[in-house]
Amino acid sequence: RDSGIVFASMDITDRKQAEKELLEANRRLLAMQKVLKREATRDSLTGVLNRRAILEHLNEELARCRRDGTCLSAAICDIDHFKSVNDDYGHQAGDRVLRALGKLLRQRCRSSDIPCRYGGEEFLLVLPGEAGRSAGFHERLVKSVAEHAIQTRSGAVRITLSLGAITVSGDADTDEILARADKAMYKAKAEGRNRVVFISDAKAP
Ligand code: GH3
Ligand code: MG
Ligand code: MG
Repeated sequence: RDSGIVFASMDITDRKQAEKELLEANRRLLAMQKVLKREATRDSLTGVLNRRAILEHLNEELARCRRDGTCLSAAICDIDHFKSVNDDYGHQAGDRVLRALGKLLRQRCRSSDIPCRYGGEEFLLVLPGEAGRSAGFHERLVKSVAEHAIQTRSGAVRITLSLGAITVSGDADTDEILARADKAMYKAKAEGRNRVVFISDAKAP
């Protein structure tokens, strides 16, 4: 009967429309999940990974080192006298400096070198291989930061970094790694700041 055919074709049109809407809703949900995941792992000011995300990455890399018998390196870099930047140029300019440093780290790091904002003005980098392998990278980073002023609304700001790098084997735990990298970074401060210090085997007395 005519009316039966009309109803059947309407049903199919409705179903197609519903399917289309469902697919669209699903696509939006996936896009939203991606944004949320990004927001959960990134530091909003600098765009690099946040502390929680880098610790997860570090643990994954340690497991990989244990499997492959390889090592990795951890580096902490801290802005020198950053309190004076805030005092002299204002907190907004300080934020601008942090953003610029985050951008520089994102640009310079290869996909296997992961930078994160570890604390206020401290960044942690996790890189594959022995610390010495990344020596050139660290030296260039510190030199480049010292040579290029960062433009802010309150004027051009010059900063320097103190960077401490260590080599880590797969059996190290994260607390130990961070303590050793921190020690290397403080050594760079003690030796005059604006420099890179490697501690090749901090386990030695
Ligand atoms: P040092 O060379 O010994 O590292 O000196 P410092 O002044 O960098 O170190 P200190 O730990 O005394 O000061 C760190 C400063 O970083 C103090 C704090 O206000 C500032 N800071 C931390 N997080 C932020 C931030 O998100 N934005 C701004 N503008 N400043 C921040
Ligand atoms: Mg600090
Ligand atoms: Mg500092």
